[in-house]
Parts: sequence; C-alpha cells; structure tokens
Amino acid sequence: MTLLTTDTTITYPDGATTSTGTVIHVELLSDGLSAVLLDTTAFHPVDTAWPDQPADHGTITTEAQGTQAIVDAVTGGIHDGRLFLGADLPVRTGTEGWVFVVAHIVDGPAPAIGDIARIDVDVAYRAALSVAHTACHLAALALDAALAAAWSKPVSADALGNPAFDSLAIRTSRISPHHSVDIYRIGKSLRRKGFIPTSLDDLDAVANQINAQLAQWVNAGGAVRIERGDNALSARRTWVCVLPGGRTDIPCGGTHAHDLAELSAVITSFTATEADGALELTMETVVSPTTAARP
Ligand SMILES: [Zn+2]
Repeated sequence: MTLLTTDTTITYPDGATTSTGTVIHVELLSDGLSAVLLDTTAFHPVDTAWPDQPADHGTITTEAQGTQAIVDAVTGGIHDGRLFLGADLPVRTGTEGWVFVVAHIVDGPAPAIGDIARIDVDVAYRAALSVAHTACHLAALALDAALAAAWSKPVSADALGNPAFDSLAIRTSRISPHHSVDIYRIGKSLRRKGFIPTSLDDLDAVANQINAQLAQWVNAGGAVRIERGDNALSARRTWVCVLPGGRTDIPCGGTHAHDLAELSAVITSFTATEADGALELTMETVVSPTTAARP
C-alpha cells in the first residue's frame, strides 16, 4: 500500500459517467468480494461520514475479466499502509495524513494491478439521483426561507441569508431516484438557539410556502455546477446554483443536474413525530421526471 500516496482522481462532480483508469490496488474482502482501486474514476461512492447520495450503479471492464458489475462503491482511507473501507473508516474525508480512495466492490475474480479498467455508470440511475440531489438542496433553502420568522435570536445564515434551520437541525439526508428524505430534530439545543417550535404547528402551510418557492425557482431555471479546488476525492467541493435571489453555495460531495430546468416539478411534504421530548420533522421531496427528451 506504500504506492498509494495520492487520492483517487474523481470525474463525477463534473457529470462524467464513463472513465478509463489503471488498477492500482486490489484488496480481497470476505465472501468472494474484492475492492478495486483505480487512479481515476467516474463512479460516485457513498460517503461514510455523510451517506446522503447512494453509490452509482454500473460496471467495470478489463481485458482480463471482461465486464463485471460493481456491486457497491464506498469511500476508503489509507493510513500506515492499511486500507479502511466504508463503516471501518474512522476519520472524515479530508483528514490530514490520510489518502482517500474510491473502492469499487466486485464479486468474483478481480482485475489485477496494472490492468486498464473502463468504468460505465448506469446513466439513467445517476440522472435520477442527480436531479433528486439538486431538488434536495433547493428544498432545504426553501425550508430555511419558510421558517425565517421562526427564530427569536440571531443564528447563522444560509446562502440566501435566511436563518440556517436546515444545517442547524438536520440529522440525516437520504437521496434516492427522484426522491429525498431529510430528517430534522427540534430538541432542547435548537430551542436554546431561539427556534420557536410552534412555527411548525401548521405543516401544510409551511409545505405550501416551500412548494410555491420551489415552483418559482424551477420555472426561472438556473445553472448548477460543482466548484472544487482540484480533482482529488478529498478536495472540498461546493454546490453552486444561480437563483433569482442570488448565487447560493452549499458544501456537497454528490452529483447534480446541470440546470434547474431539468427539474420539471419539485414537491415537498412533511410529517412530524414526537420522540424523547424532541420533535422529529421529516421532509420528503419528490421530483417529477422531465417528459422532454434530453440529448
Ligand atoms: Zn449535497
């Protein structure tokens, strides 16, 4: 493992769905599975610390093994010559002194070190995740805006200048094709920061306000891109979207639509449950697939 001194180069933040790279390490796992590391890949892995967007679906093709399904893709970290994969990775991506890699998991005989490997991502599945991820960020900004008056004290602001309910209260975010589920916790610490829980008494009104805002943004359209310092897996990446109210940015490791016009309609709905003296708010966001054929 001493050969691996640099992160995997990743091309998916720019929208790539195919790539050609060299196999630089293969690690045998249990149950006949292997982790294949490439110098460069278009395959989006699930992040260990913040697993919002699931791994891509797709294949790896080498001359020796032919075309094989990639059954999973996880983030790995290398430290002191050891590879830690997925849930075993004890540090956040970007931690000093570690090398971060995309581990493509294959079932059966693995390609060998030095093989040239072509990656082909399932384009339809990726596109469905990308529009859902973009919609998820928009919904979070619309939620912050809808709850802008729900605070009795000043708190940190989001990219549009509204109190950052989403980043202060979020517990988990899960993206699936054309769909996302965000779970927020309204407990003691959020109330101490000045959040007024009765602002959530009429969730239908909150949803209506958000949906009106989302419709306005989607109809206006706007360019979406990922900005990043370099192509390394651990480089800081930012989702940038141009909205009528200004340019927004949110730290993000996922993939996205290229323009809000790709989202034909975005609808959110809410449910709330009481647990351990805290309110748990679930925001579900659904994107209608576009009917127009796209090049
Ligand atoms: Zn994101």
